[in-house]
Order: sequence, then structure tokens, then C-alpha cells
Amino acid sequence: MKIAILSQDSSLYSTRRLREAGEQRGHEIRIVNYLRCYMNITAHKPSVMYNGKPLENVEAIIPRIGASRTFYGTAVVRQFEVMGVFSANDSQAISRSRDKLRTLQILARNGIGLPVTGFAHATQDIDGLIETVGGAPLVIKLLEGTQGIGVVLAETHQAAKSVIEAFRGLEANILVQEYIKEANGADIRCFVVGNKVIASMKRQGAEGEFRSNLHRGGKAERIKLTPEERSVAIRSAKAMGLSIAGVDLLRSDHGPVVMEVNSSPGLEGIEKATGVDVATKIIEFVEKNAIFGNFKDKIQY
Ligand code: ADP
Repeated sequence: MKIAILSQDSSLYSTRRLREAGEQRGHEIRIVNYLRCYMNITAHKPSVMYNGKPLENVEAIIPRIGASRTFYGTAVVRQFEVMGVFSANDSQAISRSRDKLRTLQILARNGIGLPVTGFAHATQDIDGLIETVGGAPLVIKLLEGTQGIGVVLAETHQAAKSVIEAFRGLEANILVQEYIKEANGADIRCFVVGNKVIASMKRQGAEGEFRSNLHRGGKAERIKLTPEERSVAIRSAKAMGLSIAGVDLLRSDHGPVVMEVNSSPGLEGIEKATGVDVATKIIEFVEKNAIFGNFKDKIQY
């Protein structure tokens, strides 16, 4: 098959591995920097132009859209969809997953366990917001943050109030969340491909750090999921309309709670921690599904 990987940087680990796995399985792989694509939006013959030429005969795309490039990246993915090209993740599902609040609302509607969460922009009723999630200690998150930046643990009511006031001054959208203390600074990444969890790892934050992000010095190791965790991860990806997803959950006293569903989950951490050939699993998924044509996104939110 002719497969295009939409990625800004061909030297990134995930991009390299997908190319390698695709070529090993006999496919023609092209890395396409979606920011350099331009499009011809017509009913007659829509196309995607790249380096001055239309990208022709592409049978499937694997989007790897950077968080800060969602708007243009999903427009390029949508254009391929309009052309009838199979996309490993649907453009609408990618946009949906980039909005943390929308994600939590969709998951809640599907009965998936979440940390108790409040959302605010410029509320005057800070005490009320804090009480919504059961008081301090609590976690405050900037809606636009990634890699743990903008995620703050406020241990006391007073600290929570000060941080919320500071964010309010910046006119930022924030989430206020119950602090899952019993997670002990660890979270679990479940890598979903199709309707299976193909690999899972536990990430443990550095000593004294409640955030487990690998970018913040966290360590990862392979972990066996409980049947409940496995089911929650699969249901979360499905609720979001994502075929390929990194579902992050915390082990709480009241069962697994989902924090986030990532539509371009990185391959490096999970492959190194688990030894699973995630790239090949993704290519196999594309092989099996591209022949059936495009999925139609049926999520209503
Ligand atoms: P980002 O998307 O920026 O990585 P997250 O919401 O995933 O932000 O938070 C970063 C890390 O902080 C998580 O991986 C987790 O270890 C920790 N964390 C986030 N929310 C909570 C919470 N409600 N309770 C306990 N730990 C949390």
C-alpha cells in the first residue's frame, strides 16, 4: 500500500518507527509535513498539494498531529478524508481529543470513571468551585497545558484559592480536579489500537513529584492491566471515536479514573518500556481497515 505519515519531523522516534515498520511489511511509505501541504477545495477533484505536486494514489494516512498544530493539521486530514483516503484516526476525533474539557464531558456521558472535576473561566465563587471537588488537596490544570506544564497540586484551601485567582487574572480556562493521592505519583498509559489494548506501562514521577510525565523525569515500566482497566481504556477510545489512542488513567480507591485520551500517542516511551512493536501493530491495523474504506465518525459531541 501507499501510506503517508503526516508528521512535522521525519527524525522523530515515532515517525521513524512507523516508516521502518511500514517498509518492513512491504508498503511504500512517505513522510508528509502537513504544515507544508496546501489544498484545493473543490467538489470536482479535491487534492492535497505537496512540494508543488498533488499527492496522488495515497491509500491511507497515519496522522501524527502536534498539539499546537491541531487546526491546520486536522484540516489536512479532513481533506484526505474528503478524497476518500483512509485515515488511521478521524479528523473530528483528533479535534475532539485536543479539548480536555470536551473529552471529560464525553467520557462522563459514557459512564467512564473520572476524577471529580470542576471547570471555570472567571468565576467569582472560588470557594464553591473548590467545594465542588471536595476541597483541598486538589489539582488545578490549565486547559491548554501539555506534558504536565500548568498542572498544579494545591495542598491547602488557601493555596488553591491563590492559584485559581492567579489563573483567573490571566483569563485562562482551568480545570479543578479531585487529587487522587492513592495513585502515589504514578499513572498508567494504555495504548489502544483498533479495539484492543496492545501495550501498557506505568509511569512513576520522580521522587517528590506528583506528575508522572516522562518529560518531567518520570520512569516507565511495563504493567499488567486489570480486566476493568483494559475495558475502561477500550471504552474511552471508542467514546472519543479514536482507533489509535493513548488512554491515561490513575488507579484510585474507587477504580480506574481516566485523565486524558491522546490521539497521537508517542511510541518511544511505550516501546522501550514494554518491548512491544507498537509501530507494526499500527501498520497492521491500517492494512486491515483501509480496504473497507473510511470509517464514518458517529460521535455526537
Ligand atoms: P498533561 O496533559 O499536561 O500531561 P495531565 O492532566 O496528564 O497533564 O497531568 C500530568 C500528571 O499529573 C499526570 O500524568 C498525573 O501523574 C498527575 N495528575 C494529574 N491529575 C491528577 C489528579 N487529579 N490526581 C493525581 N495526580 C494527577
